[in-house]
Amino acid sequence: MNKIHVIYGEDPCCMTVKLLNETAPLKGLDKNISIGIKPNLVCPSNASEGAVTHPEIVEGIIRYLKEQGFYRIKIMEGSWIGEDDTQTAFDVCGYRYLSEKYDVPLIDLKQDQFTSCSYEGYRINVCNEVLNTDYLINVPLIKGHCQTKMTCALKNMKGIIPDSEKRRFHTIGLHKPIAVLNKLVKQHLIIADAICPDPYFEEGGRPHRMNMIALGYDPVLMDVFASEILGYQKEDIPYLMMAGEMGIGSFGPYEKSEYDVQNKIVDIIDQPKEKYLHLIDESGACSACYSNLVSALKRLDEEGLTERIIENICIGQDYRDYPGEAGVGNCTIACMKNVPGCPPEQDEIYIFIKDLIRGSLD
Ligand code: SF4
Repeated sequence: MNKIHVIYGEDPCCMTVKLLNETAPLKGLDKNISIGIKPNLVCPSNASEGAVTHPEIVEGIIRYLKEQGFYRIKIMEGSWIGEDDTQTAFDVCGYRYLSEKYDVPLIDLKQDQFTSCSYEGYRINVCNEVLNTDYLINVPLIKGHCQTKMTCALKNMKGIIPDSEKRRFHTIGLHKPIAVLNKLVKQHLIIADAICPDPYFEEGGRPHRMNMIALGYDPVLMDVFASEILGYQKEDIPYLMMAGEMGIGSFGPYEKSEYDVQNKIVDIIDQPKEKYLHLIDESGACSACYSNLVSALKRLDEEGLTERIIENICIGQDYRDYPGEAGVGNCTIACMKNVPGCPPEQDEIYIFIKDLIRGSLD
């Protein structure tokens, strides 16, 4: 169980099938069990942009499962808060095609009912479809995240809760609820996509070619491995430390089995410091909102404009009723200047900040 199996190459489907054949993770299990595959479809985009799980990896999983005689297979996801609904993500990310080709249902967890689950008095609503699954295969990316630094096995589970709960996670600090959610719902197998993930940002846009897929069973161990690949230490990621301390998995050391090493192209990624992040006053912001603000600032930075921003920009649910100078999203409506929306679009934020800059020059 302390093994991470890593394969390198350029054909995600064949690489996945080979990893599964080498490790045989479902050996001996009843063929009648229900199997849920949970990719990361955070937003509707092509996997080549570095934000979403390659459908070819999920295709490899389905092909392997069917060859082994498993037939109760479903793909489940609830994409992030905002207009990027899961159905659009299924279409754009190539999962509708996969569903029709292999006759595997797509479950939109945003439409699902939920059950309140509790761990030591800490309550979290979890989608019923997930609770009714016998074997959960988590297929995250090894990817950067603008608020938590990274996301992989543990954080990808945020897609199995309703939107109202996702918002609440951000008001209560994100890290502890992510850890508790993993205490409540067990993932049995993790197949992590590091073909070309964005190492800096969950919404993609700066994919980094790595040509790698990793397989493991322990989400804490997988996240320790992922944090190292992304140039962090486990101590940099609070939810990872909390999950380990709660006994969800092991901090390692792990034993790495590598396949097709001749195709390996990356060891560890250097994390640059974004020089405009100090302009954001964030507390309790949802990922979609925060990420749209960071994307807008990135565009302004590329135009050489961020140095002209004089107001700090408030964002997040803890800023409700706070009379700051400038705020992003409905939560900061009490600020003197505000761009409304829940979340506002990246373009709206970009125009809003440009107006702030112009106002400060008048
Ligand atoms: S305005 Fe932004 S931070 Fe506030 S609830 Fe909406 S998405 Fe979340």
